[in-house]
Amino acid sequence: MSTVAKTMPRPMPAVTPPREDLNPYRISQMQFDIAAEYLKLDTGLRQVLRTPKRILEVSIPVKMDNGQVKVFTGYRVQHNIARGPAKGGVRYHPSVSLDEVKALAAWMAWKTATVNIPFGGGKGGVICDPKRMSKAELERLTRRYTSEILPIIGPDCDIPAPDVYTDAQVMAWMMDTYSMTTGHTVLGVVTGKPIAMGGSPGRHEATARGVLYAIEEACKVKRINLRGASVAIQGFGNAGSIAARLLLERKAKIIALSDSRGGVHNPRGLDPLKAMRFKERTGSIVGMPGGSRISNEDLLSLKCDILIPAALENVITLENAEQVQAKIVAEAANGPSTPRADEVLARKGVFLLPDILANAGGVTVSYFEWVQNHYSYSWTESEVNAKLGEVMRRAFFDVLEISKKYHVHMRTAAYILAVGRVADATLVRGLFP
Ligand code: NAD
Repeated sequence: MSTVAKTMPRPMPAVTPPREDLNPYRISQMQFDIAAEYLKLDTGLRQVLRTPKRILEVSIPVKMDNGQVKVFTGYRVQHNIARGPAKGGVRYHPSVSLDEVKALAAWMAWKTATVNIPFGGGKGGVICDPKRMSKAELERLTRRYTSEILPIIGPDCDIPAPDVYTDAQVMAWMMDTYSMTTGHTVLGVVTGKPIAMGGSPGRHEATARGVLYAIEEACKVKRINLRGASVAIQGFGNAGSIAARLLLERKAKIIALSDSRGGVHNPRGLDPLKAMRFKERTGSIVGMPGGSRISNEDLLSLKCDILIPAALENVITLENAEQVQAKIVAEAANGPSTPRADEVLARKGVFLLPDILANAGGVTVSYFEWVQNHYSYSWTESEVNAKLGEVMRRAFFDVLEISKKYHVHMRTAAYILAVGRVADATLVRGLFP
């Protein structure tokens, strides 16, 4: 055998690139770590800020309509309360997990700090499939869940709100259960309540309206005329369907919409009001006249000016970020893009409006609702919307300024702002005891 043959390099074993970590809690910590590095936070403070303050797991026995008892699992997590009471929604979904609730609680802490309202961050969730439960079962589940988490919620310590598959009715049951237990009416224990019972005008639309205000500013940066701009929206619930309606009012062209069963697409434009009526009638927007069918995956890579993920986490990942063709991605959902996807989008020049900025309108008007409840006073819808506009625009420019100063994309900029604010509050309060 020749020496050449002896020294021939052996074929390299195929290397599979490490899969992207899609655990939402670890993703939330990665996002935090990037900001902590820029802020040069010391190790002890990093540990305090990157872990939840309090976690409660509860068993929720519910008598189902067939007479049998079923036990559900629920959580309430308070990530940080340095700047004020914990604040955050309650999610009912079959894929709820403790790590998801921990991530959502952390994102709430950074979100309230981004828009500078005096709250910390919390979140709740119950593993259940509300689409397969009757209204009476949902009421019993809500009341027992509220009763189980009652020791840690309250208008001065932790204030729940709606999230995926919970709504104003669920908030009314939560408020009633809390009030019945304490013996007097406590309006400020939850937000997102019906208007008839301490809710705020404008709260129902607030998340979407905040997304709209952020998009308006991003369009100016990207020199896009919102009038006629093409928009694709994934998720057609509170955030997504109202964003579609508000954008149509601004003469944007909604070219694609979707819900959990799939989507519809028409490059010439869809009517979100017709979509809403069709969904009310049939339970889904899939099959609505005036558009062709499109999958949730394909919607994300459509050629459009603005893409709005408004459903669940981890939909824009390393696997599909390269295919995103939108000029602006506005995150109405919490956690729709992964840190690796962020890098790809930034390299492609996509302007990212991160969740903790873009969808902060909901918690901002929740704060207004809580203030009105404390004052026993009510603002008009136009007052609420004007105040929301001020908060959203100020936050947008605060984040944009940091993004320019540090040469980072808007998510990292928002984290630098938010983590910096929570770190300042924590340091000035000092460590107890
Ligand atoms: P919702 O329950 O009103 O609507 C959820 C929508 O997502 C529904 O149309 C559902 O069909 C759709 N959906 C579910 N699974 C899907 C999937 N796999 N693919 C595509 N669509 C799917 O919920 P919401 O309140 O609109 O919340 C949506 C997102 O916005 C969540 O990430 C939530 O955390 C976030 N968010 C909501 C608020 C708020 O005030 N409601 C505030 C801030 C952030």
